[in-house]
Amino acid sequence: MKLGVLGAGQLARMIALAGFPLGVKCALLDPAADSCAGSLGHLIVAPYDDAQGLSQLATVADCVTFEFENVPAHVLESLVRQVPVYPPPRALLNSQDRLREKKLFRELSIPTAPCASVGSLSELNVAVMHVGLPAILKSRMLGYDGKGQVVIRNESDIVAAWEKIGNVAAILEGFVKFDREVSIIAVRARSGETRFYPLVENVHRDGMLHMSTPRPGDVMQVAAQAYADKLLGALDYVGVLAIELFDTEHGLLANEFAPRVHNSGHWTIEGAYTSQFENHLRAVLAMPLGDTDVTTPCAMINLVGEIPHRDELLKVPGAHLHLYDKPPRAGRKIGHITVCAPNALSLPSRVERVLALIECN
Ligand code: AMP
Repeated sequence: MKLGVLGAGQLARMIALAGFPLGVKCALLDPAADSCAGSLGHLIVAPYDDAQGLSQLATVADCVTFEFENVPAHVLESLVRQVPVYPPPRALLNSQDRLREKKLFRELSIPTAPCASVGSLSELNVAVMHVGLPAILKSRMLGYDGKGQVVIRNESDIVAAWEKIGNVAAILEGFVKFDREVSIIAVRARSGETRFYPLVENVHRDGMLHMSTPRPGDVMQVAAQAYADKLLGALDYVGVLAIELFDTEHGLLANEFAPRVHNSGHWTIEGAYTSQFENHLRAVLAMPLGDTDVTTPCAMINLVGEIPHRDELLKVPGAHLHLYDKPPRAGRKIGHITVCAPNALSLPSRVERVLALIECN
């Protein structure tokens, strides 16, 4: 069985690794010849919209999926005519544009922060009146990990914020006072069968995910699942999908969704009966879904910029290191560590040890 993957970064790498025990091999298309999943499958080096590269991928693959969210949506629509593509291109189309994404949440009665579309400085002034301050101005397209967004605290920040995001189509969102950030990761099969991982609590640093901890039995599980279920049904979704949410005193507010495996689900490799990567493969290739329950208390910490002292990390009991084979660079995710523990009481001290090693790096 061969799975085609658009993108050959770390998410594709972990999908490819999950495929080996199931007898699934990957063909990967990426513009970069040195992308980090390239050595784990048949790599086609081509731009995402290269007709020849795409038809090569469609020829060798039984099904095509994507790890990269900014693949032009028309590329997927043309691929669909040649080979099954999951998740459905419509899911990608909606997640690529923050305005469409918010509209979809609202159509489905999934609550979000107040927001308004902004196409010019004068529209930004009007949006500020509707949304109020503080607020966050975000570019509609191509934003990730806190990039392409700027906080507006006072009216005097408005002009600078508009210039900073570069005069592009944007949305203004009310600044949410949240108690915590959480995500729900779901997997839906071609048959419509859906399973959910336990709610994950996430801590961000400078807009980028720093640490994720699964919280089985969380009081917000049912509400988060209900929102994910609505979204999956509306998109007739197949594969893994994540929704990032703010947990506030008024309940959950959806921030964004990712139609793919998600960084806040990396802990599932060691911490769940079936990892998100394996379940994504199973779903898109029409295999039975695997159990999404947690096997052990755990937490995942991202490695950003530099590789810490490897052997010291490996000495921490229950620590599992995943390096992505990417050259270290400031602000770049180059790996993660999942720390497991036999019980919830022994987890925090192990996590502290790992954090101390990362900080002193
Ligand atoms: P995003 O790129 O939308 O995932 O945003 C990155 C991070 O910025 C989020 O995980 C939050 O920590 C923060 N953030 C984004 N939108 C808001 C908001 N409307 N209110 C408060 N914080 C936000």
